[in-house]
Amino acid sequence: IGTQKTRTGRLKKPFVKVEDVSQLYRPFYLQMTNMPFINYSIQKPCSPYDADKPSSIQKQTQVKLRIQTDIDKYGGPPVQLQLKEKKKKGYCECCLQKYEDLETHLLSEQHRNFAQSNQYQVVDDIVSKLVFDFVEYERDTPKKKRIKYSV
Ligand SMILES: [Zn+2]
Repeated sequence: IGTQKTRTGRLKKPFVKVEDVSQLYRPFYLQMTNMPFINYSIQKPCSPYDADKPSSIQKQTQVKLRIQTDIDKYGGPPVQLQLKEKKKKGYCECCLQKYEDLETHLLSEQHRNFAQSNQYQVVDDIVSKLVFDFVEYERDTPKKKRIKYSV
């Protein structure tokens, strides 16, 4: 008991504390060493809150460099790689479940059951009201493809 920290005291300044007036919910806090400061001298279109953070600029260039090496390795476009990395963790609104890795979750039994269920009827109902007005080509036969590649 003696080593346990008490949960009382005052917040260290500077801080922002947000609390519902009814006091039914846990307050949430923001404590930082420096509060945001509007920097007018930073060049457009940089955020005025980007001020004086050489470390973040360094990080950005590091990320760029890493992506560059990825391109060298796989020859893929950098935007796709970035999106892939960002989207990995998240929450599935179909399964009402958090996941650590998107691709793994999409292959899980629960998600696949949902994906093949009739739960998308609401989407199909809207789609059925739209008019298909593209030119629909027949599938390319493999023979044609081979000719294309040889040209
Ligand atoms: Zn899911």
